[in-house]
Amino acid sequence: MAPMKKNPKKKNRSGSARKAPVAPMAAGLRLLPRLLAFSASSRPLFAAHSGALPLPVRRAGPSMPLAARARRGIGSSTGAAPPAEDEDFATAADLRFEPPLEVVKYPDPILRARNKRINTFDANLRALADEMFDVMYKTDGIGLSAPQVGVNVQLMVFNPAGVKGEGEEIVLVNPVVYKSGKRLLVFEEGCLSFPGIYANVVRPESVKIEAQDVTGAKIKVKLSGLPARVFQHEFDHLLGILFFDRMTMDVLETVREELKNLEKKYEERTGLTSPETVESYKGTKDVFSFSR
Ligand SMILES: [Zn+2]
Repeated sequence: MAPMKKNPKKKNRSGSARKAPVAPMAAGLRLLPRLLAFSASSRPLFAAHSGALPLPVRRAGPSMPLAARARRGIGSSTGAAPPAEDEDFATAADLRFEPPLEVVKYPDPILRARNKRINTFDANLRALADEMFDVMYKTDGIGLSAPQVGVNVQLMVFNPAGVKGEGEEIVLVNPVVYKSGKRLLVFEEGCLSFPGIYANVVRPESVKIEAQDVTGAKIKVKLSGLPARVFQHEFDHLLGILFFDRMTMDVLETVREELKNLEKKYEERTGLTSPETVESYKGTKDVFSFSR
């Protein structure tokens, strides 16, 4: 996940969030100062985040899924379904990589490919995670998933501080969301696979997750605030879901031209036809409603 655009305006924190309803687009931006302040702190990621994040978004209906369904046959995005018995794990070949890693850009089909679970926790895995952190810092990211560097496995790294030596470096392997908070927040996201594109995405404010660390040890933790946001963005990547899949149609319209530009660049670079086109994408409108 790319860091959010810096908001040039200084915000007066007192009471601004509770005032009369604000336009949804602005709502995401309003969160920035607080979240950036949070990200810059040295607070451990897994500590409880006491700073409330206001601006809940009403759910559109009782049966609304955690998020939009992605295209290409991806079903539940909660990841809560247990892995199939016959699931095959990533092989050494699947986990092979060659530094320096480069960020895979939309619409490369690697971003939509299935990501295999990992059951080999060795030096190679640690090296891959280290390389991913390097790429993330170099590209000013705050989170990165393995498919984004061309390795289709269930691995993500993130550090909401976005700076080496600051914050906390988190490596999560085979993550699963087993519970999502009811409160939804709109927040402006960027993605390293979509350079220069930023737009509002609605997600739960908190998630309870299970995962393994780079040694294979089990982790069970509740994330909220920016770590929850970054986690969910990267977790989507592991399901082949991209952040524009989760934008409302209104928001998608604001980035449609930029997405088309990326598709054009891909075609020029590879000589291939873009494997997907936002032009034909009808989106997932009505999943979230911004209307008051
Ligand atoms: Zn991303």
